This record gives sequence, structure tokens and C-alpha cells, in this order.
Amino acid sequence: MIPQLHHSPGQTDLTRKFLQQLKHHGFTGDIGQRYADRLSMATDNSIYQKLPDAILFPKSLQDIVTITQLAATETYRKITFTPRGGGTGTNGQSLTNGIVVDLSRHMRGILDFNAEEGWVRVEAGVVKDQLNSWLKPQGFFFAPELSTSNRATIGGMISTDASGQGSLVYGKTSTHVLGLRAVLLNGEVIDTAPLSRQQAEITGQGTSQEAKIYREVMSSCLDNRALIEQKFPKLNRFLTGYDLRHVFSAQDECFDLTRILCGAEGSLAFIAEATLNVLPIPKVRQLVNIKYDSFDSALRNAPFLVEAKALSVETVDSTVLNLAREDIVWHSVSELITEVEGQVMQGINLVEFAGDDLEQVEQQVAELCQKLDQLRETQQAGVIGYQCCRALDQVEKIYAMRKKAVGLLGNAKGRAKPIPFVEDTAVPPEHLADYITEFRAILDNHNLSYGMFGHVDAGVLHVRPALDMTLPEHHQLMLTLSDQVAKLTRSYGGLLWGEHGKGYRSAYSADFFGPELYEQLRRIKTVFDPDNRLNPGKICQPLNNDTPLLAIDSPTRGAFDRQIPVVVRESWRGAMDCNGNGLCFNFDVNSPMCPSMKVTRDRIHSPKGRATLVREWLRLLSEQNIDPDSLDSSTGFSLRSLSQKVKNSWGANKNEYDFSHEVKESMNGCLACKACATQCPIKIDVPAFRARFLELYHTRYLRPVADHIVANIEPLLPVMAKAPQAVNFLLAKPWVNQLSRRYVGMVDLPALSHPTLRRQLSGHSALTTTLEDLQGMSTEQRAHYVVVVQDPFTSFYEANLVNDLVQLITVLGFKPVLLPFVPNGKPQQVKGFLKRFARTAKKSAEVLNRVEALQVPMVGTDPALVLCYRDEYKLLGCARGEFKVLLAHEWLKTVTLPTERSPEAQAHWYLFSHCTEVTALPSASVQWQELFAQFGATLHTINAGCCGMAGTYGHEARNLENSRNIFGLSWQPQLADKPIERCLATGFSCRSQVKRFGGDKIKHPLQALLQMARQRS
Ligand SMILES: Cc1cc2nc3c(=O)[nH]c(=O)nc-3n(C[C@H](O)[C@H](O)[C@H](O)COP(=O)(O)OP(=O)(O)OC[C@H]3O[C@@H](n4cnc5c(N)ncnc54)[C@H](O)[C@@H]3O)c2cc1C
Ligand code: SF4
Ligand code: SF4
Repeated sequence: MIPQLHHSPGQTDLTRKFLQQLKHHGFTGDIGQRYADRLSMATDNSIYQKLPDAILFPKSLQDIVTITQLAATETYRKITFTPRGGGTGTNGQSLTNGIVVDLSRHMRGILDFNAEEGWVRVEAGVVKDQLNSWLKPQGFFFAPELSTSNRATIGGMISTDASGQGSLVYGKTSTHVLGLRAVLLNGEVIDTAPLSRQQAEITGQGTSQEAKIYREVMSSCLDNRALIEQKFPKLNRFLTGYDLRHVFSAQDECFDLTRILCGAEGSLAFIAEATLNVLPIPKVRQLVNIKYDSFDSALRNAPFLVEAKALSVETVDSTVLNLAREDIVWHSVSELITEVEGQVMQGINLVEFAGDDLEQVEQQVAELCQKLDQLRETQQAGVIGYQCCRALDQVEKIYAMRKKAVGLLGNAKGRAKPIPFVEDTAVPPEHLADYITEFRAILDNHNLSYGMFGHVDAGVLHVRPALDMTLPEHHQLMLTLSDQVAKLTRSYGGLLWGEHGKGYRSAYSADFFGPELYEQLRRIKTVFDPDNRLNPGKICQPLNNDTPLLAIDSPTRGAFDRQIPVVVRESWRGAMDCNGNGLCFNFDVNSPMCPSMKVTRDRIHSPKGRATLVREWLRLLSEQNIDPDSLDSSTGFSLRSLSQKVKNSWGANKNEYDFSHEVKESMNGCLACKACATQCPIKIDVPAFRARFLELYHTRYLRPVADHIVANIEPLLPVMAKAPQAVNFLLAKPWVNQLSRRYVGMVDLPALSHPTLRRQLSGHSALTTTLEDLQGMSTEQRAHYVVVVQDPFTSFYEANLVNDLVQLITVLGFKPVLLPFVPNGKPQQVKGFLKRFARTAKKSAEVLNRVEALQVPMVGTDPALVLCYRDEYKLLGCARGEFKVLLAHEWLKTVTLPTERSPEAQAHWYLFSHCTEVTALPSASVQWQELFAQFGATLHTINAGCCGMAGTYGHEARNLENSRNIFGLSWQPQLADKPIERCLATGFSCRSQVKRFGGDKIKHPLQALLQMARQRS
């Protein structure tokens, strides 16, 4: 039995009092103060970990004003604050022991747009891709680009002055910020915009905080103009935090305070709103993917490519390419970056040309291709081949792969993982190749592996050396390498902070700027934040404040993970390996990951949140010398353990604290859709460790009744199906639904099929042919047979579909055999009844292996259950055997279909695929399209996220609201504008969810095929 985890680090009394007062002062946002909430904000994508005291989620500008006004009172002057957006920083910028103010949850409004003048006004929590998908129909886009564009916020981008691909032409974020609305620490709201020098001097008169700021910044910049020009390098990735060089325009006639706030990393003010310059979307974009024999060749060839007037040149090395090849993302680009026969591709450059004039862009591409042909033929510059992407969707696919590259590095084999701490250097592009040669020599000296990619046009290369931060010696090595790279970069006239900001690496600032200029930075900090209360430890300290900046060797996540024994870490790698890159915070409701995060906007309901909580849970168990894996075997039933569980559960009901409850809450929110297991670059498989956690949790606490019902649903259904009408009669009674909701915790239970499958197939040879019959046949005879594998949900709730599969098999000239129902075990696995699941899986595998031995194809209909055979059944090891159950489309692909077209030939159909299938079998929807095309029909595949049902999740009363809301995010709107009779779904869950919330019955695609097949026969 797991022990009670009583302890969680408490908050300070001052914070607690502040939070109480905040509510009384009209704060309307959310407040997070549980340990789980705080842990979910204790990391970003950096190597560091720091536990905040609380989290505030303001809903409006006024909420931020309320926070700051209360904070300005004498009582609370010791509380510090750190603004936070997507939390994707690589330098710990948003980490703090104080209070985090997270604007990403609620402040996501797009407030105003002016197409004529080309600007948009947004709240700071708007995600960059969210903004661009809103702007797209208007023909505009927000130009600064970054790899984390689907989860990084505008506030975070402004505060780190983010930039990336295309920066040579488009510049950095600050280039596109027209004005900001920011809240100062005393509650004052300021609006910034470019002002004439005279206007700025007028604003600088008076006693307001704003006036003081204007006076101080103006004098600091003017008095030190020569020094600023000398120290701030003239690179594309110019220096920010604080950008003294661009506050005044070239001739000092224009002053813009915005430039100081851009790149200030939340150390000066809260940015609440921003007015951004937006550009018309270029009409044409084309990409040339150039392949090289070495990464060095790719780097050395970059200036030549920039000369070709490319919009951008991006590079990726072979380490990253190889990791991409093993990821789902490769599926979308494999045709666009093919291998070169007889050569090994060690690096690629992605060269983009864009504009409004197709002819001109094509001319540029043609000229480059001509030069590349020459290089290749003469074997120069290491060019071994190239491919062009002329269609926009191809260009976007390549960039999606490039964007995922950073995360993929975390998927490297072994305990040492490529990590960010020197990953953001910028040097003059013409020196990049030489610089990287020296950089590599440093890493090679330490025998380290690494991956590289970046923006070679701007001299920025992201290098992540592989270290195991749980080893104290690697912690020390990280510091040594940091210092060495900082020195090397300076010797090339470069910057340690190319585009990801400073954070913990502010520690190198004083040395870089020198005492005089560094003092000017401190003057700026002082006038905004004299008591060092806004994101302390980053950028610089105020004058008269000697609190040191955060040290490079501050406590890292590795230091916490180190406390968990290696064997436990290895066994729970699924949770341990999350590297925090935050891809699972993807804002896009049409992408499968992660439905629970999207609907709750709560980080504890994301894969990262769940992995973080399990890691801490393992650490707390380790503190008590508990190895959870040794508990696995002691979960058997006894009266003593039952009475203990009753007592523990009683205590839990009386609010006795146990950190395990917080972890459990986070696991309860998971739909077990498995999107994370493939979409996450590290393949963090939450359902796998969730099941293990649940099993262990219930060694201490009683299970809810619903768990037992779900776990027993497979043996129960055949019994219930003996009298389907009686069961349905009862289920239709409102009082039964009410009782079920109240005492069982289940709602909206679907009606059983009537007539049952057996009745529908009565007399059909599919029902009467047995395995023994098949055994008695010759191989040639068996070649005409197909075995239909039943699953509990389709067979007992949607018998028509199984019947239709039988009919389709017949229409196509084969003989179907219905395999007697054998429980699959997935419901037990989902609920963490792992031992029972192992037993069920073993029995089922035995039967399926018998069929496999007959070499007759086995076909099932439901993706979640069929894919369970391929994934969760791996727990059986060798006992799983080699059996293979195909999904309908996989089998149909092996069959020669009739060639004449059906009268439905012109028909358009719309396919909504099950999210587990979309992520585990990314080519499934294309294969369905090909099958429909063979019938002469057109199948449109719809990008929809999760439907919100996911097995029994949607039927559990506690999940009802979330289930409905998830359905409303993407399925409902996508169904609304399509003819419902033409909409198809591969998942049983999805079809029942559409029926439940939309009232419509939709078909499985095989039923549409059957319809077409029948019409033409
Ligand atoms: C895989 C990966 C790839 C990346 N690629 C790029 C890239 O190509 N280019 C690039 O520039 N960066 C990149 N980054 C770094 C990171 O995504 C950017 O710095 C991004 O701009 C951070 O945005 P965020 O919303 O996540 O901010 P956070 O990480 O939450 O915060 C960043 C900083 O901004 C401050 N801040 C946030 N919101 C506000 C606000 N409203 N008011 C005041 N201060 C605020 C925080 O205090 C913190 O100091 C990458 C990171 C990862 C993990
Ligand atoms: S769960 Fe995966 S996608 Fe999410 S932060 Fe962790 S590694 Fe990244
Ligand atoms: S299984 Fe689905 S709901 Fe659960 S964490 Fe993974 S993506 Fe999120």
C-alpha cells in the first residue's frame, strides 16, 4: 500500500493573506495555490526548477491593476511577481519563488483590427498561431516567427523579443510592436507609442511614475549614446533586455518606450495589451530543400544562399533529421526530403523565397536551382541534391517538421539528453561555420553528443549538448561549458542571447556590458521597480540592491530527479522524460493534443502537468524509501487491506491531505485518448503511467463504483444482451439515469442493440462457421475467408455496423466468420486494473494467435480497441505472440475492389477519424480516401480534435461537462456546416458522442462503402 504523502511545501503567510485580500478587492481571475498548481508552473523548457508560492490568472487589465494596487500597499511590499505566458522559455525566465501571474489562461482576446492601417490590438495571452489563424481570412499575418508559435503568447514574445525564421526580412518582435498597454507595479496603467522627442519630454514632466520613467530612460540613453553604440552589437539579433540602442531613432528625433519593454522579460511591468503591425500575406511561397554531405558544408553554403535574396535560410543537422525520421512528423515530409542514392545526407538547408509576384519568385527559385545543379555536378560545396516545394501546404509541412525539431532532440536515446543552456548564440553569419567548428571542438573534448539546427542566415545556431542533469558531475560540466561558450562567442563578436532571452543567463550580462553600461541598465530597473519585486534575479538588479542575480548553477530539475532511485526513474521513464517543451499546450482545437488541457486551460490537465506531478509523487515516495514498483505485487485482496482502505477513504472524504489526491485529480481529467503518446516529440504516454498510478493509488483508497462497472463491462455486456429490450426499457427511465448518476457516477448510458448481432446474423454462415471448421480446410480454401474480431462496444451497442462489415466482406467476394466475442481488456487497462488486464489480454491473445496460425486475416472495426492489441498488449512480452488484427481500411487495402463506379460516384463524404487512430496511424485517413476514390467517390478528411467521449470518459458523471465542452470545441462546429448524412466517423465513441450531443446517427466509412458497393452490384 502506498503511504500517505502528508507533506507539501507550504506558502508564506504573507502570500496567503495577500490572496485572501485580493478576493476582497474584486479580483475576478482564478487563484492557484495547491501544490499541484504550483508544481505545474515550477518549470519551463529550461533546465531549472523553482516552486512559486501561488499562481494568479487575471481575466482582465483591471485584474492586473487590482493585483498591483494591493501589492503596492506597505503590508505586501515583500511579495514578488513574475508574469508568465506559455511558459516556453528556455532560460527559466518565468520561474520564481514568488507569485506567478499567468496571462495565458484568460487574457486571450483579439480586441481590435484595422486592415487599412495594418494593425491589430490583442491581449497579451493571445497565442501567436491563434492570432495568425484569426488574421488569415483578412489576408494578413503577424510576421515574427518562432518554433513555439502554437503555444507561445504575444506577451512572452514581446518580453523575450522573439524571432526566428524569416528575421532577415521581417526583423524581431519589437520591429512589429506599435504600442503597449502595461501595468506598473504601483497600479498605474501606461500606454506606449513612438513620440516625438518634444512629446516625450512633455510626458516626462510631473510626478507620476510614468513621468519619472520617461525622464530616466531619456537621460540614460542620451547621456550614454556613444557607449551604447559601441557595446550593442550590430547583429540581426540585436541585444535586448534592456534595448537602450533602439529607444531613440537614429537622429534622436523620435522616442519609443516600447523598445525598453520589448525584451525586458517581465522585469519592468506587466504587459496587458499590445498593438501590433501586421503585414499582407505573401501570395507566393516556395521552398528549396538543399541536401549536403556534411553539416559543415550546409553552414558554409549559407551566405551563398542569402545572396540569392532568399527570405530565410534554415538549417538542420543529421542528428535532428534522424530523430525526425523516427517521429510521426516524418510521415508528412518524407516525400519532400527523399534520400539521395549512394550518398548520406548529413544536413539540409531550407531556403524560402516569397512575394506577390509568382513569376519573380519562380525566377528566383529557377536561378538558385541552376546554381545548385552546377555545384552538384562539379561536386562543390557538399551539395548532393535538392527538392523544391512549390505548394503552400508542402512549405508548411516542412516548417512544421523544422519547428518540432527542438522537441525531438529530447527524444535522443540514453539518459543524457540534449538540453538548452548554450543553445542560443548569435555570431556574424559569415563567421558561423568557423565558430561552430570551435564550438564542436569544445563539446568533442568532453565526448558529448549534440544536435544542431537554426537560422544560419542570421548567424543563430541552436546547439543542445546531451547531458544527464541527474549526475552531479554533469551539473558541474554544464557550468564549465556555459563559461567556455560564453567566452568563445564573445571572441567572435557575438551574443550568448540570440533570440531566447536571458533569464538565468543574465548572470553573464555585467561582464558583457561592462560596469558603466550595466549601471545604466540598473538605473532603468530602479525607476520601474526600485525594490526588485518584478521577476527578480533576471536581467539586472536595481541600484542599491545587492541581491545577486540567479546563478547559472542554480538548482535544476535534475537535482530533484536525482532523489528518485535510478531503477524507479528507468521504470517510469514515461513521466521522467518530459522535457517541458510545451508542445502539448497547442492552442489549436482541431489538433488532437491535448483535449483535457484545451477544455480546462489548466496546466495540471496537460501531459506535461501530469508528468510533472508523477515525477514529484515518485520523489516524495522515494523520500519515504518506497519503491512503487515493489508495491505492484502487493495489491491483492484481504479483509485487513479492505478495512484499511475504508478508513483511508473516510479520511480522504474528511479532507485529510495526501499529495496523491492531487495527482489523482490530474489523472482523472485524462481521456486516455493517447494523442500524447505519438504527438509529443518525446512520446510521453500518459495513459500508460496513469494506469500504473491508478493501480497504486487504489492500493490505499477504495475505487469508485464506476471503475468496477467499467472494468467489468466486457463480461457484463453479453449477459445484458440476453434481454436488450428490458435493459433499454430501464435505461430510458429518467429515474434510472438519476440513480446511476448519483450512486454509480455514470450518465447517458447508451441503449443496447436490438435486434442483437446474433439475431441479425441468424442463419448466416458467418455465425455458424467455427475455428475448427477453418482448421479443417486447406490453405487455398481458407484464402477466401476473413475473420471478424468483435469488440464489446460495436457488437453490443452498434450491431448493425458489425453486420455491415460482414455484408461488405461478402459483397467483395469473401466469406466472413464472426469470431466469438473475446474480451479485449482495454477498459480494465484504462482504469488501472493492470493485473486483471494482463490476464484478459493473455486469454485474448491465445485465441487470436490460434486464428493467426490459420493465416486468415482478422478485421476489427474500432480503432481504440484494435490498436490496444498493438500497443497495450506489449505488456505480455513474448506471450503476446505475432497475431495481427487489421482495421477495416487496412484489410480493404489488401483486396482488389471492383472497378465499375457506383451511381454515388459524384458523392462527397466527410471523414472524422478517431483521435487515437489519427495519431497512431497517420496514413489511415489517406488510405480511406484512396478506397473511396476507387469507388469513384470523394472523401474529405476533416481535421478535428477529440470528440470528448473517449471510451467511457464521457459517460462518467464527473466528466460530463468537460466531455460536452470538448465536443463543442471542434466536432460540433465542424459537423454543423456539413450534410450530416455524409459525415462518417471511424470511432464508436465518436459516433455515440455525435448522437448524444448532436442527436444524429452517423455512419462508419465502411458502411458508406457498402452502400456504394450495393448500388453498383
Ligand atoms: C522548443 C522551443 C523552441 C523555441 N524556439 C524559439 C524560436 O524559434 N524563437 C524564439 O525567439 N524563441 C524560441 N523559443 C523560446 C520561447 O518560446 C520564446 O522565448 C517565447 O517568446 C516565450 O513565450 P511564452 O509565452 O512561452 O513566454 P514565457 O516563457 O511564459 O515567458 C517568457 C518571459 O516573458 C515574460 N512575460 C510573459 N508574458 C508577459 C507579460 N504579459 N508581461 C510581461 N512579461 C511577460 C515572462 O516573465 C518571462 O520572463 C523556443 C522555446 C522552445 C521550448
Ligand atoms: S508532455 Fe511532451 S509535449 Fe508536453 S511538455 Fe512534455 S515533452 Fe513536451
Ligand atoms: S491521453 Fe489524451 S487527454 Fe490524456 S494526457 Fe494524453 S493527450 Fe491529454
